[in-house]
Amino acid sequence: MTLKFYNSLTRSRDEFKPINAENVRMYACGPTVYDYAHIGNARPIIVFDVLFRLLRHVYGKDHVTYVRNITDVDDKINARAEREGISIAEVTERTTEQFHADIAALGVLEPTVEPRATAHIKQMIDMVSALIEKGHAYEADGHVLFDVPSMPDYGQLSNRNRDEMIAGARVEVASYKKDPTDFILWKPSTGNEPGWDSPWGYGRPGWHLECSAMSAKYLGETFDIHAGGIDLQFPHHENEIAQSRCSHGTDVMANVWLHNGFLQVEGEKMSKSLGNFLTIHGLLEYWPGEVLKFNMLRTHYRQPIDWTEKGLEESLTILQRLYDKCAEATTVPATIIDALSDDLNTPKAIAELHQITDPGEIAAALNLMGFSCDTAKITKSQGNIDEAKINALIESRNQARADKNWAESDRIRDELDAMGIELKDGPEGTIWKVK
Ligand code: AMP
Ligand code: ZN
Repeated sequence: MTLKFYNSLTRSRDEFKPINAENVRMYACGPTVYDYAHIGNARPIIVFDVLFRLLRHVYGKDHVTYVRNITDVDDKINARAEREGISIAEVTERTTEQFHADIAALGVLEPTVEPRATAHIKQMIDMVSALIEKGHAYEADGHVLFDVPSMPDYGQLSNRNRDEMIAGARVEVASYKKDPTDFILWKPSTGNEPGWDSPWGYGRPGWHLECSAMSAKYLGETFDIHAGGIDLQFPHHENEIAQSRCSHGTDVMANVWLHNGFLQVEGEKMSKSLGNFLTIHGLLEYWPGEVLKFNMLRTHYRQPIDWTEKGLEESLTILQRLYDKCAEATTVPATIIDALSDDLNTPKAIAELHQITDPGEIAAALNLMGFSCDTAKITKSQGNIDEAKINALIESRNQARADKNWAESDRIRDELDAMGIELKDGPEGTIWKVK
């Protein structure tokens, strides 16, 4: 069995050879928990779950370790807590719980370990100390910075030249930086900001540090696969590599780097101001989780994906047809394994699914990719439509309209739209129907 993945580090499709086939180790960057996860955030969760399942199938269920972190220290979290007048812990706990509920509905496996940044501050401080000791970091003005020119081969993953790195890092001109590409390992905290005591004063870690510290703790200094969205390739992953390799004195942090492409909605970048911002939570009000997952996997993970209502309708129809054919799962046909082994080619695997005639094999193939074959789980029912909530939203919208607050009334219409509810304003008031 040969697995091949497109490795961002070598920029080629390489044969996968685990360091130790008894324990294949993968890490994926998880969410920053400050708000509902959007459907773009679901993409790495879904595609790297298929990877986890494939590796378990090939190497054995107990021979794969999957670590996916939770970023629970970040300035976006502080801002949210401040805005709502609640504690940081309340924001992160509530959001983490919501995230778990959302992705459970997608039918993904739990990772082996799901470490939280705030529980690993000591490991991060130790890593910064090691970097200072080895001459790769320096203290300046209450901050600790990574000294980029101290690492001659910095930049291998993103393959950028120095000018591009300076532009891409959006480095603010800080007088305490020796070089504009140097990045923050530790920064001071004041007021309501979260903070911990450290040799460099009370402060908090820079964003990149947690993944280096936690991957080392759970997967070792060098491991097999590191994954995340393409937006993380630079600077996040580049900086993770710098921190890990320079603190451990190794040549490699992870052998294979996988990056998923971006998701856009109905041909446009998802954004709150465009009103096309889809949360997993909102979509689940109307679409079964397995349909969301199937819709995601119909596009190859490295390609950009255009998320559309029409695509979801098609996914529902195809999945219903497949589930109707399922019987008790037997063996996974080689055609499915071959497709997935070829850089996780899920669209090819789905095309192959249509060629299988044996009901037990169809079920086994679907199960391997994380589909239950349970028709009750993909019924687009109105049972999960909350009429009281819809009526309350319509009432708020009527009030907003009476107040001529058009921004608010549009926002509510969009919220209902995301729930799959269409409004019609007529002489007898507003009526709604399921789209
Ligand atoms: P964040 O919480 O912003 O750090 O993102 C969590 C994960 O979601 C990262 O792996 C991001 O690369 C990924 N991600 C964020 N937005 C999108 C998008 N629109 N399409 C695909 N992946 C995304
Ligand atoms: Zn990371």
